[in-house]
Amino acid sequence: MPDRSFLNWPFFESRHRQLSEQLDAWCAKNLPVDHHDVDAACRNLVSMLGRDGWLKPTALDPDNPAPLDVRTICITRETLARHDGLADFAFAMQGLGTGAISLFGTPEQQRWLEKTRAGQALAAFALSEPRSGSDVANMEMTAVRDGDFYVLSGEKTWISNGGIADVYIVFARTGEAPGAKGISAFVVPADTKDLSVAERLEVIAPHPLARLSFDNVRLPASALIGKPGDGFRIAMAVLDVFRSTVGAAALGFARRALDESIKRVAERKLFGAPMAELQLVQGHIADMALDVDAAALLVYRAAWTKDMGAARVTREAAMAKLFATDKAQEVIDKAVQLHGGDGVRKGHIVESLYREIRALRIYEGASDVQKVVIARQVMGTA
Ligand SMILES: Cc1cc2nc3c(=O)[nH]c(=O)nc-3n(C[C@H](O)[C@H](O)[C@H](O)COP(=O)(O)OP(=O)(O)OC[C@H]3O[C@@H](n4cnc5c(N)ncnc54)[C@H](O)[C@@H]3O)c2cc1C
Repeated sequence: MPDRSFLNWPFFESRHRQLSEQLDAWCAKNLPVDHHDVDAACRNLVSMLGRDGWLKPTALDPDNPAPLDVRTICITRETLARHDGLADFAFAMQGLGTGAISLFGTPEQQRWLEKTRAGQALAAFALSEPRSGSDVANMEMTAVRDGDFYVLSGEKTWISNGGIADVYIVFARTGEAPGAKGISAFVVPADTKDLSVAERLEVIAPHPLARLSFDNVRLPASALIGKPGDGFRIAMAVLDVFRSTVGAAALGFARRALDESIKRVAERKLFGAPMAELQLVQGHIADMALDVDAAALLVYRAAWTKDMGAARVTREAAMAKLFATDKAQEVIDKAVQLHGGDGVRKGHIVESLYREIRALRIYEGASDVQKVVIARQVMGTA
């Protein structure tokens, strides 16, 4: 039985407690799905999650607009990640991939949200390039105005859902100013002419990922999100909402690792007694539980602060993402150790958690980048 005592913290309302319980029951019945064909698994997960209503919190409801509830997104990610990393990924991309439209889209652009919230279309967020990952403002891809059109040229890489998405939110340089102030955001349907998948990328925890090529892709000017030059601000506003949710996914992985370890040390006998009686083992379990609770406090502080109407939660979200992902890595490493040889056996749950967690310390701002963000925030307000 997973620990749900954190849901009694003052950050939550009864609807959050209900969500956690109902989604956990749904996950126990429906997850994990077969991962052999990762593209098919993701499409299937999006369709299942959409069919049963779990994708609704990922994006604005155009008929009933209200701010995204970050606590709901975090609880959903934490719960899905505890059961199946790919299910968390499928859910998360529907939100990250449409965040710019939810926050800044026109009514016409927001028509995509009906489909993505129902699991009938997959979304992707295309910011990174081969020569600009952490250094986003250095992006090279261009979008040149040509009458009523924009023409996009360049490459995007590491794009989650790349190759299977129905719609991409693409950031490109429109040149209103040098650096970050000369970037704009566009809605690009996947079937747009001259947009192609240049390469599919394989990583240690299989997820659909691709490098995309834009070879003079012509888009109507109505594809622009917000104003020309707003792209960097839009990307940062989207990450401000979704960054703490990466911490929530890490928390889900860490909780699973802790639960598996508690079970293991109770069952496994060493030197004539359960491992749980060894004090060094208890020390590991105590460290893991402490890291899980501390990460949960930071994640849900960030989510609650955003939900209470804070314009920005840059510092809170950076702390939540940095701490929760770094500590989840340590918790899972301890779980592998406590499982002995089984911990590194292919297909074992803690082995897959060990592979799943790693990328979370790199994407949506690597750990080092979060440290820079936190330092600037605290020094700026001192
Ligand atoms: C599984 C996965 C999924 C992804 N999904 C997406 C997606 O959907 N959309 C998208 O646009 N991108 C996505 N990315 C890309 C991701 O955002 C980038 O990989 C990330 O921003 C790092 O960029 P980079 O890989 O170019 O590394 P680099 O920018 O070359 O950085 C390398 C390392 O340098 C360190 N570093 C960075 N800045 C500093 C600093 N100031 N001081 C000290 N050290 C520093 C960090 O440790 C970093 O990991 C994904 C990546 C992965 C691995």
